[in-house]
Amino acid sequence: MAGNLYEMLNEDHTKVKDLLENTIEEESVKEFPQIKNELEVHMEGEKEYFYPDLKKDDSVTIIEGYHKHSLAKKVIKDIEDEMNETDEWIARVKVLQDLIEHHIKEEKEEDKIFKLAKKNLNKIKEYEIYTQFEDLKKKNDLM
Ligand SMILES: [Zn+2]
Repeated sequence: MAGNLYEMLNEDHTKVKDLLENTIEEESVKEFPQIKNELEVHMEGEKEYFYPDLKKDDSVTIIEGYHKHSLAKKVIKDIEDEMNETDEWIARVKVLQDLIEHHIKEEKEEDKIFKLAKKNLNKIKEYEIYTQFEDLKKKNDLM
């Protein structure tokens, strides 16, 4: 059965969003390694497979996306600096949550990137990207 690229990306977003909400609510570090793994794989997949074909159509939006990824990576690093459930730590997780919610909004709700993708990718290409994402997830023990 052919998977749907956009559904998969949405599922990734929802999963990370829920994990971040739990982490903040429970003030607990325990799910953070999973959040990090999910996010890094998601961002890597977007960067390697999803964004390149969209860049020719709207390079500013895509370059902006790359910069937001590196911002998220910096915040992840800050969070990992001290995994200790202090107010400082929770505050850092909240910064990551803001970035991710913004990312979700831009990709999906405002439909900026998904709209670009639907315009520029045919079904074959969408499926190819989907399977590349799947392979990357398998390699990182996410499936
Ligand atoms: Zn995304």
